[in-house]
Amino acid sequence: DAVVFWYKMDLRTTDNRGLWEASEKARETGVPLICLYIVSPQDFEAHLTASVRVDFMMRTLRILKQDLAALDIPLYVETVEKRKEIPSRIIDLMEEWGASHLFANMEYEVDELRREAKMVKMCADRGLAMEVFHDTCVVSPGALTTGSGKQYAVYTPWYRSWVAHVHANPELLATFDPPSKNSPDARDKLASLFDCDIPDVPENKRLSEEDAKRFRALWPAGEHEAVDRLEKFCKEKVGQYAQRRNFPAQAATSSISVHLAAGTLSARTAIRTARDRNKMKKLDAGDEGIKTWISEVAWRDFYKHVLVNWPYICMNKPFKPEYSNIEWSYNSSHFKAWCEGRTGFPIVDAAMRQITNMAYMHNRCRMIVASFLAKDLLIDWRMGERFFMEHLIDGDFASNNGGWGFSASVGVDPQPYFRIFNPLLQSEKFDPEGDYIRKWVPELKDIKGKAIHDPYGRGAAAQAKKAGYPEPIVDHKDSRNRALTVLPYQVPPG
Ligand code: FAD
Repeated sequence: DAVVFWYKMDLRTTDNRGLWEASEKARETGVPLICLYIVSPQDFEAHLTASVRVDFMMRTLRILKQDLAALDIPLYVETVEKRKEIPSRIIDLMEEWGASHLFANMEYEVDELRREAKMVKMCADRGLAMEVFHDTCVVSPGALTTGSGKQYAVYTPWYRSWVAHVHANPELLATFDPPSKNSPDARDKLASLFDCDIPDVPENKRLSEEDAKRFRALWPAGEHEAVDRLEKFCKEKVGQYAQRRNFPAQAATSSISVHLAAGTLSARTAIRTARDRNKMKKLDAGDEGIKTWISEVAWRDFYKHVLVNWPYICMNKPFKPEYSNIEWSYNSSHFKAWCEGRTGFPIVDAAMRQITNMAYMHNRCRMIVASFLAKDLLIDWRMGERFFMEHLIDGDFASNNGGWGFSASVGVDPQPYFRIFNPLLQSEKFDPEGDYIRKWVPELKDIKGKAIHDPYGRGAAAQAKKAGYPEPIVDHKDSRNRALTVLPYQVPPG
């Protein structure tokens, strides 16, 4: 007999609720714990998972395998080509291993929820038990409702209720210990599982050797790295976070989104670690930097709660169905210029080159380029959402969809449609010295002073042209007027 824990986007041993529950079950019943991960190339394709993200997960699996082996727990990894066969393959494996219990953490995207519901039933039909746990959010979706019992659609009141709920239930921030050690004979009994190799990255998601090397250095994988990064951030940077977080040239944010997305770090650990450094031991009072940072991490919970309550956002539909009528543009040369960072707007281009180079983009810049695509170019925000998923190492459906919905004014608690970022003013305010632009747009590195923000409009046209930097593809004033004429007819007020 055995208990099986099915890993998904929760690739860690510590503070993992489903894993801990599985381990407890194994301990109580005196059977070994087996961990399982299924590589699904079709899921990667369907979810537009960036190759760099798949590579990160496969690297993490190698580390996880070693950590689990130190506890005499095998991590068995197998590739299943057709995703619809995953449930039956897992059940077959359980029968092969004589396992009667399957544990997992819940994923909230529609496909995954449906798959899990189906699996619970399939397991029951075969006389097996499957238990699924809430783990990825600090507060489980559905736990917070407005006075009239509905899911909040506005962040600020939701956040107040989130803070009150966590303060009233401090156990929500308690940690789950790593699993207990299997008994020593598990090594012999399960020898073939300990011997299994971690498969290569599936062909559809393989990086070039050069990129693989570069991304490995940029984004070291695994839960130990995640905790180190979190602690270093809390020690060195969180204090200044509130003042510095909006300046992309300063490495003032935590860069732990990659770990929260892959589950190499739990949101509980992130928030608990920050709260414990706060002299007041509170989430929303005391140290300004800590307070602000916690409220940012909470956005992640918020967007997952939204996803669970309005699952149709997983189906390419805007949060408010009436926003489906907006006539977006599909101008392919504009979209190409945006993707390639050749719009002639230096801050936009710097950001787009950051994402293609690093598989990451600073939050302020995510808002700037999203607003530029949806409002200056009036291009369908879903094209940008997709591009982000295909390129980000921290790609997360709920946060990405939420961020795009906010910026394009079609999402939950969005930016009002008439609030249109002026890329030039954003650039001057958040990259005042032009350091971020110079780093990512080397054509402009010799341009001095304020001309860096708008070389063609500020007397550096000849220099920019000579360096091969394009002229602006639109005039911001005109496109702003166009957006203000087009959007209000189709976006109902309120
Ligand atoms: P920090 O500033 O240190 O914040 C800490 C953590 O809080 C982040 O790691 C993240 O988990 C969470 N967080 C912060 N801001 C947000 C936010 N606005 N929404 C949700 N969670 C947040 N984040 C993703 O994790 N994956 C995405 O695919 C993603 N796509 C985005 C798309 C757009 C258009 C926008 C505007 C934002 C998007 N974000 C996304 C949110 C945010 O930009 C990133 O989480 C953040 O830049 C990651 O850097 P960090 O870890 O240094 O953040």
